Amino acid sequence: MSKKKEAREKFKKIMPMKPRERMQIPRHLPLEQKPECRIENFAEVSNGFNVELAAEEALRCLECNDPVCMQGCPVNVDIRSFIGMVYQKDYQGAINKIRESNYLPAICGRVCPQESLCESVCLVGKKNEPLAIGKLERFVADYELKNGGFTPPQKAEAKGQSVAVVGSGPGGLTVSAELARMGYDVTIFEALHEAGGVLKFGIPEFRLPKHIVDAEIDRVKALGVKIETNVIIGRTLTIDELFDEMGFEAVYLGTGAGSPRFLNIPGENLSDVYSASELLTRVNLMKAYKFPEYDTPLKLGRRVAVIGGGDVAMDAVRTSKRFHPEKTILLYRRSREEMPARAEEVHHAEEEGIEFHYLTNPVRIHGNEDGSVRAIECQKMELGEPDEQGRRRPVPVKDSNFMMEVDTVIVAIGQSPNPIIQQTTPGLETSKWGTIIVDEHGATSRKGVFAGGDISRGGATVIQAVADGKLASRSIDSYLASVREERSTKA
Ligand SMILES: Cc1cc2nc3c(=O)[nH]c(=O)nc-3n(C[C@H](O)[C@H](O)[C@H](O)COP(=O)(O)OP(=O)(O)OC[C@H]3O[C@@H](n4cnc5c(N)ncnc54)[C@H](O)[C@@H]3O)c2cc1C
Ligand code: SF4
Repeated sequence: MSKKKEAREKFKKIMPMKPRERMQIPRHLPLEQKPECRIENFAEVSNGFNVELAAEEALRCLECNDPVCMQGCPVNVDIRSFIGMVYQKDYQGAINKIRESNYLPAICGRVCPQESLCESVCLVGKKNEPLAIGKLERFVADYELKNGGFTPPQKAEAKGQSVAVVGSGPGGLTVSAELARMGYDVTIFEALHEAGGVLKFGIPEFRLPKHIVDAEIDRVKALGVKIETNVIIGRTLTIDELFDEMGFEAVYLGTGAGSPRFLNIPGENLSDVYSASELLTRVNLMKAYKFPEYDTPLKLGRRVAVIGGGDVAMDAVRTSKRFHPEKTILLYRRSREEMPARAEEVHHAEEEGIEFHYLTNPVRIHGNEDGSVRAIECQKMELGEPDEQGRRRPVPVKDSNFMMEVDTVIVAIGQSPNPIIQQTTPGLETSKWGTIIVDEHGATSRKGVFAGGDISRGGATVIQAVADGKLASRSIDSYLASVREERSTKA
C-alpha cells in the first residue's frame, strides 16, 4: 500500500463521524479583535485558530477521493493531506506538506483570496460553508513559528551556476527558494532597504504582521539565498552588468507594479491628495503609526475619502481609520457586488465603521486658497452592460453631481509597473501597459531573462506571483541545464 493510501486508511479508522454528519458541522470562525478595539491599534485583526478550533474545523473535511480543492489552488497544495494531518495533530507534518508546494504558507494563509480559489470549490461548500482552508494553513504555519521545528528542506547538489533575482516580493522569494533547493546559487537584489515587496510596504500590519513576513524571508535565507537591499537594477546595476560583469547566468524579474495610477481629474495635484501607495508605505515601512517613536509624521484631515474598490482601497481606508479622523469614507463607482476586494476585508471595513458610498464617481477635487483640499465633487452612477471582464460598466446619471466635504483624498485605483528596467534593458519586449511580456514558461524576449508576478500580469495576487515564481524556477532550471550541456560539449 502506498504511503498516501496508508495515511488515508489510518485517518478513516480514527475518524469518529460519517461524511454526512461531518457535512452538517458549521464552519468555525477564528478569534478576532473586536472592531471597537482594533480601530485603536495596528495589531492583527484575526488571532487565527487555536488548537481546539483547528481540530474541530479539520473534522469537517470529507477527505474527498477527488480533492477538487487542490485543483482550485494555483500552486496545487495537497490540501486534503495537510488537513488530515491537522486532524491527527501532526502539525509539523502538515506544514511540511504545504511547504512542498508553497514556501510562504504563513503569508498565503493570511492574504490569499481562498474564497475564490480552493474554498470556492470545496465539496462541503455545496451544502454548507466550505472548509476554512486558509485559516488552517495559517494555523499550522503559526504553530511552527511558535513552537520551532523548522529545518530547511534538503537541497540538491550544488550546480555551480548563479541566478540573480530582481525584487523580493512573493514571486522573487518563491523563485529564489525553489532554485536554491535545486542547487543554484541565488542572490536577490531589492531596491528598498527591506525585503518583502508589497507584503512589507503595502499590506498593513493588522492583516499581515511584518514579523511574519520576516520569519518567512528567514526561511528563504536558510536555503542559502543572499539578499542585497538598496540596489536598484536599471540604475545601480543594469541587467547586462549582472550577466557580463557579475557572472550571473540567468535573471528573474519580479519587480511588481509599484507606480500608483491616478484619476487625472482636476484638483488631483492639491496638497492632501495622496496615492494609496504613499500612505501605506509611510505607515507600513516607515512606521508612521508609531510617530514620534519613528520619525515619519502623517498628516490626515478630519474627513478622509478613499477612492477605489480593491484590496488596496480597503487597506488604505482601514489604515486611515486607525488615525482617528471624524469620518472615513470609501467612494466606489460600481456596486458592492462588483467590488474586487476580498469579501472578508470588506466585511471587516464595514464592522470598523467605514462609510461606503457605492455608484459614486469623483470628477473634481476642490481646494482652498492655500492649495489644501476642501471638498470632492462626485457624480452618481448606474450600472450598464457588462464589460470585457463581465463586470457591469458604471454609467453616469445625468445632472447628478454633488459635493462632499472632505479634507484628505487618497487615490487607490491601481498600480502600474515602474519602467526603469524596461528602459535600460535592450531587447526586452513590453506591452502597451508597460508590463514585461513573457511566454508560457515565464521567459522574456531576452535570452536568460525570465519574469513573473505583477510585472508581467499587472496588479494581481500573491499566490499568482508564487505560481509564476514556481513556473519560472522550472524554466530557469531547464535553461541552465542546456547552458551546462552546451559548455560540456564545447569543452
Ligand atoms: C496594498 C495592497 C494590498 C494587497 N492585498 C492583497 C491581498 O490581500 N491578497 C493578495 O493575494 N494580493 C494582494 N495584493 C497584491 C499582491 O500584493 C501582489 O500581487 C504581489 O505582491 C505581487 O508580487 P510580486 O512578487 O510580483 O511583486 P511585489 O510584491 O510588488 O515586489 C516587487 C519588489 O521588487 C522591488 N523592485 C522593483 N523594481 C526594482 C528594481 N528596479 N530593482 C530592484 N528591486 C526592484 C520592489 O521594491 C519590491 O520590493 C495587494 C497589493 C497591494 C498594493
Ligand atoms: S474539497 Fe473540501 S472536503 Fe474535499 S478534501 Fe478538499 S477541503 Fe476536504
